[in-house]
Amino acid sequence: MTFSAFGDKFTRHSGIARLMEDMGEGLRTPGAVMLGGGNPAQIPAMNDYFQQLLQQMHDEGKLTDALCNYDGPRGKAVLLDALAEMLREELGWQISPQNIALTNGSQSAFFYLFNLYAGRRADGSKKRVLFPLAPEYLGYADAGLDEDLFVSAKPNIELLPEGQFKYHVDFEHLQITDDTGLICVSRPTNPTGNVITDEELMKLDVLAQQHDIPLLIDNAYGVPFPGIIFSEVRPLWNPNIILYMSLSKLGLPGSRCGIIIADEKVISAISNMNGIISLAPGSIGPAIATEMIKRGDLLRLSEQVIKPFYQQRVKQTIAVIRRYLPENRCLIHKPEGAIFLWLWFQDLPISTELLYQRLKQRGVLMVPGHFFFPGLEHEWPHTHQCMRMNYVPDSETIEKGIRILAEEIERAHAET
Ligand code: PLP
Repeated sequence: MTFSAFGDKFTRHSGIARLMEDMGEGLRTPGAVMLGGGNPAQIPAMNDYFQQLLQQMHDEGKLTDALCNYDGPRGKAVLLDALAEMLREELGWQISPQNIALTNGSQSAFFYLFNLYAGRRADGSKKRVLFPLAPEYLGYADAGLDEDLFVSAKPNIELLPEGQFKYHVDFEHLQITDDTGLICVSRPTNPTGNVITDEELMKLDVLAQQHDIPLLIDNAYGVPFPGIIFSEVRPLWNPNIILYMSLSKLGLPGSRCGIIIADEKVISAISNMNGIISLAPGSIGPAIATEMIKRGDLLRLSEQVIKPFYQQRVKQTIAVIRRYLPENRCLIHKPEGAIFLWLWFQDLPISTELLYQRLKQRGVLMVPGHFFFPGLEHEWPHTHQCMRMNYVPDSETIEKGIRILAEEIERAHAET
């Protein structure tokens, strides 16, 4: 069977496909310790809330209404209205419903945006997407129609007390060139839990404006919802910024509802692309989110339930890691948000790809670091020394996973 060039590219076994397969396989394997994928937590208070909300929406006919009708290509109009009003009031952003479009999750959104701004242009030039701070989200890596669509920049590493460290944008070496078509950063960052500082974000914003290219900020974990962010930083939006938000980390990944906030011209482009590729985004997630906003629950639950839950989990997980792995064996990226811990095994004698395979054989799933450097041009040993783990499972599962991780690390050291 032969495919088109598009087919050849998009039927590859990408890192994100392997991750999703591990997740599906793990879910069917009893006793597997799933610290690999990005599934959000099953927070009892949120699950109860969604059950009750869905029951009420069902009783009021709102669920059948959502299921039995297409929305427009920008997505459910009542949600666009409610979101615009909420963001104006909460954050003072000058936006209207015309600044918002919905997509079927982030992969659709990033596929649109990367290929809108990067790739071959009518004049024969080729533009690329710049990730100013690698490591960066694995989901971006294969979303380009053209080969070599991404360039990423190595970070500066700040060593912190208690065996922690933090990545910073290396502005001295950051190169924005004529072929940069878009700057993209996740904040909070998957895989590291980093939150780039207000100062860093403002500098990127200025650079983007100076070069007349958009700055895309992936705010899947950020404020004002779902609020999985533990450092005091300000959200930023202006017409040169394209902001991605999502319902997934509220606990609704199955709703596949992504939200793009941008200048009206960008939104109109997204709307047309939605029409061609999806007709319209799905309606159930937006119907739920509309109800949550109307009832004043979206921000309240983010602040009072979701954020404290993750903050508590991350603290407990770090305590477990330190019981099994001292600082000289494992450094931890300062956890400022998102649902992962990024572990750096500086002196590990084997690659984290091999460590991943050994852990998988013992039923523990984590993700080796090298997947998270899309477009890094030069080989960098650091990419093979890190590992991402999801800290969301219950404490027993976390402890089991960390114990096996520590055993495999000691085994690797003993082999040399
Ligand atoms: N963006 C980042 C940075 C993520 O980590 C994730 C999920 O892990 C997503 C987006 C996925 O969002 P969605 O479920 O809205 O596609």
